[in-house]
Amino acid sequence: MIKKIITCMVTCILTCTLAQAATVKEYTQVFKEATAVCKVYKHPCTIEAIQDDKMWAITMAQGKIQVSTKLLETMNQAQVRGVVYHETGHAVFQHVEKSAEYMYETMLNGTFDKNYYNEFRRQNELQADRFATYLGLFTFKDTDLIGALIILTPPDDFYKTHPSHPSTNDRIEQIEQILGR
Ligand SMILES: [Zn+2]
Repeated sequence: MIKKIITCMVTCILTCTLAQAATVKEYTQVFKEATAVCKVYKHPCTIEAIQDDKMWAITMAQGKIQVSTKLLETMNQAQVRGVVYHETGHAVFQHVEKSAEYMYETMLNGTFDKNYYNEFRRQNELQADRFATYLGLFTFKDTDLIGALIILTPPDDFYKTHPSHPSTNDRIEQIEQILGR
């Protein structure tokens, strides 16, 4: 009986520890991994934590990736890795530059198509998700993009207000397919 209780306590301590937010050391490690990946793809990126009480992560032109402190203080290391690897995908595939290029060209000649543009952006999100998932698999790093997505986005309403992103359910389905679940 005592052995059982001790086992339960140890399991709980382990589970609780795993569920805890990433430490500064842990997320710095993830930033380092992702920066190295950008280098391999010859699209250098920089990743920094930005003080903010909302959860978000963004990739801007020239591989400038930012992650809010609220996100880093909420997610565990595997979830932070999922998000950062996803943003790394945006940087590696130059999604921001390609979007800007499309906007610029089509605005100039009057052929801008909002539906096409939103679909293009949704495809970019799915591509970044695939990149993050495969990167986690190939590097054997504990990566939990699904867990991160669940924390970040209410599955259904997000899609209605953000046509630039696929629904969280669609994103999770794709990741699960890759992971063979
Ligand atoms: Zn994205």
